[in-house]
Amino acid sequence: FRRKQPSANELVEGILKGDKIALSRAITLIESTNTEHLDKANEVIQGCLPHANQSVRIGITGVPGVGKSTFIEAFGKYLTAIGKKVAVLAVDPSSSISHGSILGDKTRMEELVKDENAYIRPSASGDSLGGVARKTRETIILCEACGFDTIIIETVGVGQSETAVHSMVDFFLLLKIAGAGDELQGIKRGIMEMADTIVINKADGDNIAKAKLAKTEFNRALHLFPAKNSGWTPKVTTCSAYEKTGIDQVWQIIADYFELTKENQYFEHKRQEQNQYWMLETINEQLKNRFYSHPEIKILLEQNKKAVQNNEISPFAAAQILLEKYFK
Ligand code: GDP
Repeated sequence: FRRKQPSANELVEGILKGDKIALSRAITLIESTNTEHLDKANEVIQGCLPHANQSVRIGITGVPGVGKSTFIEAFGKYLTAIGKKVAVLAVDPSSSISHGSILGDKTRMEELVKDENAYIRPSASGDSLGGVARKTRETIILCEACGFDTIIIETVGVGQSETAVHSMVDFFLLLKIAGAGDELQGIKRGIMEMADTIVINKADGDNIAKAKLAKTEFNRALHLFPAKNSGWTPKVTTCSAYEKTGIDQVWQIIADYFELTKENQYFEHKRQEQNQYWMLETINEQLKNRFYSHPEIKILLEQNKKAVQNNEISPFAAAQILLEKYFK
């Protein structure tokens, strides 16, 4: 006995009513690799789109162990306590390799997961960062239509995923700890440059003095970066996710940022740019997917791979044959 699958319309209706079950089902549809689901997923997204956008989107990154999940739990609880509705999503392209997400893992945010005004969804899996990121980007739209006004996107601070997350959020928060050098923390300069705020976590116990010192140092370092188009000067602050101190200051910084960028219209400008970026990204991704999954291309590709290997044809000529075949 299989329950009838809800239609796209039913899913949209459920989402607009704030039904988390409908939301989860729709996200599963978006994440599906079954091409038959693509049209239905697109219908749901279209239905949600007019109700999306009423939110702030915050990206959070930091190397493993820095306290991201502890921070998001404390921060998320703080936000729901002041009346926000919080959705936590994750971008973790490695989750398909490790078979199980290290990010957005439900057991890591025990309190927040029980919170009626919060919704936590682990990272989509997929074999490319582009695919995972696109799915998360679409999931944001559904969460917003479902009434979530604060979207948090977590990513691990070691690879390229920051750039993808940066291109889907309004505000980017870099979580750090005092005492470990930048090399040790694996944070590249480019990621520092993306940050709208650096939050030094674990500022508790013996660590408080060190954290304050780190704050001064990071403040100095940030001043060396070129001014941002947003007109915003990145801020450094300290907190203890564990003791739940300094969390209100973090929110104050973010709120100040939104006040400034909504006033000077950078907020809207950035979202428009991001929309264009995602259109192009989606085209790139879909072109690749469709090309490589095309039955005739698959066969021809194998033949040409062998021919290239045996030096019977140049790689460029082989590529040309395949592309011409596909776009004929
Ligand atoms: P993630 O890998 O970045 O998600 O880090 P976790 O949130 O899992 O935290 C890693 C470890 O640091 C855990 O043992 C946490 O209990 C600890 N931790 C997180 N935040 C704090 C903090 O503010 N103070 C202290 N002392 N420990 C913390």
